Amino acid sequence: MHSTDPSEAKGSWKDRENALLASYAMHSIDSLGRTFTETEHPYRGPFQRDRDRIVHSSAFRRLSGKMQVFTGDMGEYHRTRLTHTHEVSSLARTIGRTLRLNEDLIEAMALLHDIGHPPFGHCGEDALAECLRDHGGFSHNQFALDLVTKIEQRYTDDPGLNLTHEVLAGQQFRSDKGTDQTQMLEIQVVDAADSIAYDSHDVDDALKLGLLQWEQLDELDLVKRAKRIVALDRIDPRLRRSLLVHTLLDLQMGDFLKHSSMQLEHCGSMSSREVSQAGISLGMSRGIEQEKEQLEEFLFEHVYRHERLAQVRDKAAMRLRQLYRLLTSHPNRLPERAKGWADSWGVERAVGAYLAGMTDRFCDDQYLLLVEMGRESGIDWS
Ligand code: MG
Repeated sequence: MHSTDPSEAKGSWKDRENALLASYAMHSIDSLGRTFTETEHPYRGPFQRDRDRIVHSSAFRRLSGKMQVFTGDMGEYHRTRLTHTHEVSSLARTIGRTLRLNEDLIEAMALLHDIGHPPFGHCGEDALAECLRDHGGFSHNQFALDLVTKIEQRYTDDPGLNLTHEVLAGQQFRSDKGTDQTQMLEIQVVDAADSIAYDSHDVDDALKLGLLQWEQLDELDLVKRAKRIVALDRIDPRLRRSLLVHTLLDLQMGDFLKHSSMQLEHCGSMSSREVSQAGISLGMSRGIEQEKEQLEEFLFEHVYRHERLAQVRDKAAMRLRQLYRLLTSHPNRLPERAKGWADSWGVERAVGAYLAGMTDRFCDDQYLLLVEMGRESGIDWS
């Protein structure tokens, strides 16, 4: 007799995982579960449910209004925090599928990885860290954990999204970077995909915005390698940038997959936990890794420290600092929800969380509304 339970039906997520995943993938049935016990969903696996909870969270939606590297004032071609997140998810899932890892878990962690970014990217993060220096500091990776365990609210009374232990572990790793412990393979994949995505796409955006000139790239070994594969200097200039970015992505992805497959060659019967305990690390070959490091130093020097971004940094820092000062001294101006946080965590951390949740535009609007209007009305906020 056939079961009427969809989770037991042929083609269920359990069947799919059994058929498709390698033994060293993180299998959903081995999950350590959630903080608040829940019954199993009839047709979605636990990591699929996590992915859906993240996509449906308000913090995720706000990623569309948060800058990655370049602001909305600079045009509409370049990445926002949301499009970067989707690109990371896309690359990470490709790696996961090829290595037969748990793609649902990878997707959930990738969609979560940047959810804690404040307005104005790393400039905003530095400003908030400075404001909260004597009140626990601020890191976007830790704030992502606060969002999904304390701040976001579903349709139950439990705080947060009640994500699985494994998805939270992925974010915890980002927060604790520097740990010697080898991480679950799915966590390593998301970390690599993030780095491959931002290095390649920052080159794309910076060229398009005119912060970088084509000739400047000639000094880079990874670009030289790309030129040995495709004749970039001889093709239609209108296609050149796209082809370069495609080739950079392809080079890094191909190398990561080849090198990582070799690392996993003798792990055929090991479990997820066993490969971590054995210290199996996925990654690129040393040669490509060095060329990637050179590209990152180049981007740091010529793009992230570019004068046009320095102006953004100064503006963001000033606005966030002023808003922080204003709201900590006038907490009655906080929205009701943030007043509740102030009761639990203190005014400073509540203001920090309120500011960190803002999109770039909302932050600008609040600044104009509260600080400048107050100044025009003769109110001294200082
Ligand atoms: Mg990222």
